Amino acid sequence: MSVRWGLIGASTIARQFMIDAIRAQVDGEIVAVMSSSQERAAAYAGENGIPVAVSTLDALLNADIDAVYISTTNELHLEQALAAIKAGKHVLCEKPLALSSADARKMVDAAKAAGVVLGTNHHLRNAGSHRAMREAIASGRIGKPVAARVFHSVYLPENLQGWRITRPEAGGGVVLDITVHDADTLRFVLGDDPVEISAFTQSAGMANGGLEDGAMCIWRFKSGVIAQSHEGFTTKFAGTGFEVHGSEGSLFASNVMTQKPVGSVLLRTAKGEEELSFDREDLYTRSLRQFHAAIHGDGQPSATGEDGVWSLASAEAALQSAKSGKAVAIDPKLGSAA
Ligand code: NDP
Repeated sequence: MSVRWGLIGASTIARQFMIDAIRAQVDGEIVAVMSSSQERAAAYAGENGIPVAVSTLDALLNADIDAVYISTTNELHLEQALAAIKAGKHVLCEKPLALSSADARKMVDAAKAAGVVLGTNHHLRNAGSHRAMREAIASGRIGKPVAARVFHSVYLPENLQGWRITRPEAGGGVVLDITVHDADTLRFVLGDDPVEISAFTQSAGMANGGLEDGAMCIWRFKSGVIAQSHEGFTTKFAGTGFEVHGSEGSLFASNVMTQKPVGSVLLRTAKGEEELSFDREDLYTRSLRQFHAAIHGDGQPSATGEDGVWSLASAEAALQSAKSGKAVAIDPKLGSAA
């Protein structure tokens, strides 16, 4: 039984990664795309070989589809996801799920009540590098984890220098864009949840409208692990990385905070250094495979709606901390309708 997809949003991410990832599935088919402009929808459909182009949500939801992938600007996710859930469609939604964790919680509650699958497109959980790190930690290879460091400050490509750096009302800013990924990746790799965050943000010359284009965060996790993360849009030559340090060893991952299945992971212990091997499957293809399996009743999406609430609650707390100058508790239950 194939999964018939409708794309909500004629976006760059869909064009660059998700259309291919859906079509890479043995049972994946893209039936329709929706843009707010009929002209753009038609052009996008033509360029990407999508049969149906529409400019309203109703028209998309009335097409013969089983699932939607939402990759519009962030302020639109909530309303579009709730409408899709109401129409009985499974929803794979881009991060951040919404503009507040309370709204993200509404999406999770609605999907649960409707019995449809809701996933958050946190691609990094699907990277072989991050899964190798998670497995090494879970199997005790670094002993008791003590601290982590995430280096995720990049240069926002010119073709994406739009709403992210100009439109606060669309959910712009580096914290909603990248800190959410770091929150999710830290949770996934450590197998732990953050409880508190302290953040400094900056506008280093790229973002305007009061938006931040750089952030440094300090995190405390339930187990007592502390972490630091750096997110940015303005550093052309920084490179990315992820380190986890434990009582018996350290993991050094390089070039792994990326959309591509690249990078390396080194384990250093008393025995010496070992390069960990990991699979190089496309991250989004793996994410889609798990989402399809979840639709067929087998397991969950690689990042669930609940995971999306966690990452957004973390980003929200980081923004509050940057504003108030104080550490802020991370509480994903704040928005619960239960
Ligand atoms: P884009 O700016 O490419 O697309 C977002 C929206 O902008 C589209 O839905 C489209 O509206 C509109 N748009 C695009 N091109 C034009 C144009 N030429 N003229 C007018 N409007 C245009 O955003 P991204 O693809 O970078 O991001 C979309 C979502 O995906 C965000 O939520 C982002 O956070 C997330 N994302 C996730 C990534 C991941 O790896 N998980 C990576 C990148 C982004 P319309 O649909 O109405 O045409």
